[in-house]
Parts: sequence; structure tokens; C-alpha cells
Amino acid sequence: MPELPEVETTVRGLARYLEGERIARVTLNRADLRRPFPEGLVQALTGARVTALGRRAKYGLVHTDRETTMVFHLGMSGRWRIEPHAIEKHDHLVIETGAGHVLALNDARRFGSVDLVDTAALETWGPFATLGPEPLGDDLTPAHLRTAFAGRIAPVKQLLLDQSIVAGLGNIYVCEALHRAGIRPDKEAGRVTLPALKRLVPAVKEVLAESIAAGGSTIRDYAQPSGELGYFAASWQVYGREGQACGCGDTVQRFVQGGRSTFWCAKCQK
Ligand SMILES: [Zn+2]
Repeated sequence: MPELPEVETTVRGLARYLEGERIARVTLNRADLRRPFPEGLVQALTGARVTALGRRAKYGLVHTDRETTMVFHLGMSGRWRIEPHAIEKHDHLVIETGAGHVLALNDARRFGSVDLVDTAALETWGPFATLGPEPLGDDLTPAHLRTAFAGRIAPVKQLLLDQSIVAGLGNIYVCEALHRAGIRPDKEAGRVTLPALKRLVPAVKEVLAESIAAGGSTIRDYAQPSGELGYFAASWQVYGREGQACGCGDTVQRFVQGGRSTFWCAKCQK
């Protein structure tokens, strides 16, 4: 499933082809993904100039000079194909730019989505209205987490996955950041000390930044816009490594927490 680093990688890849470009043609090859494509999508985008691309949580943002933003979510299996040799079965939305570039939103399982939102109203748009700060932004601080965790008995891992506390963090990155910060995933959030939070915030940012730098990680067949596969998986310290040695020499353990696998090291994480 594309996580924040993959979405960021995708957005950066798309920007090379879309930023400043006029959209010459938009083709929809079916009526819906997870839900129907917005009414008027083709008309809204055709002839518009893309002013900038961006990301909020795991959503990609394509801003246009019509004060409208196309918001996309890659769901479970979505990816953008750049300059495909041929349009394939699952290329549901195809954009051609004035410069002749072709970009296809491919989503075999169709858990993704595309929406049109007034650019000025993005912050209050339904899915964005309750989101917490971006993990890579300046608003994610130890003080923010201290306030959000105060008095909470829920496990720290569960609260880090709460999008209203931090936007866009997924299971892999939370496991890795908690390991890097030396915090047990099942520790009561309200009992995580300030020194630990001061380790956790940079750990979150580092894990994400390293993954973005590596071009986005992959579990199955996630491909970058360039078509290359990501390769950060090789440098995970605990995720997916149950029974293998942690860097400290102890063994990585797994347990199920809130329906998802948590990987951790009992020696490194207190
Ligand atoms: Zn360890």
C-alpha cells in the first residue's frame, strides 16, 4: 500500500511533467474508482494550467490556475504511470499535457480516489478538516505530542497511527520510528516521557526522509513514477523481521496490535 513516502515520491515525479504545464486532454476510461470520478472533472482540468503539486497526508494535490485542486489518493494499489508505452486495462484516468507528456493513473484494485476541491477551501475539505500536523512539517514537535498524549492510556503506537494526531503515518514507519527512538510500542502514550518524545519526533522525520530519499519503499509491486521499484525495504530495522536479529543482537518480535502487526525489539525499546 502506498504510504506517505511513496506519495511524496509520486508527487515529486509528477511535478517534473506537470508543473507549469497546460493539460491538453483528460480521458476517463471508467466512471469510478472507490467512488465515482467527480462530475465535471474532465471539463475542469482540460485547458487548465498546473500551478504546483503538493501532498497532504497520503493525498497528492494537483493545483491548477482555475483555483481548483485535483486531490488523488492511491488507495491500496494506485500508481501513476509516466509516458506508458500503451494504455493498459487499469489506466483509469489519463492526462496529456500540452508538451505531449502522458500520465496515467493506474489502480487495479480501485481503492483510490480522485476529487476536485476549491483550492482556497482545501484545509476545511472533509478528509483534511480533522488531520493533525504533517510529520515532516514544523508543527510536529515534542510539545505537540505531549499535549496529544496527555492522560491517554492507549498505546503510543496506536496514537501515532491516529491521523488527527499526526497526518499520514503508516504502520511500517511507526514501527521503525519507535524502534529508533527506543520506545515500546505498547507503552501507554501518556507515560512516554518528554526526553523520549524528543527522540521520537526526529526519529519519525528521519525514517520518512530516508525513505523518500530512497525513492519510496515497496512491499509488493509499488513502482515510482519512473517505473523503478523502491528499495528502502532493505534498510528496515524491525518491520517484517520477526525472528531475525536486531542490530543489538537480540531478536525482533512481532505481536498484533489493533489488528496490525507490530515489530519491535524488547532490548532496544523500553
Ligand atoms: Zn534491539
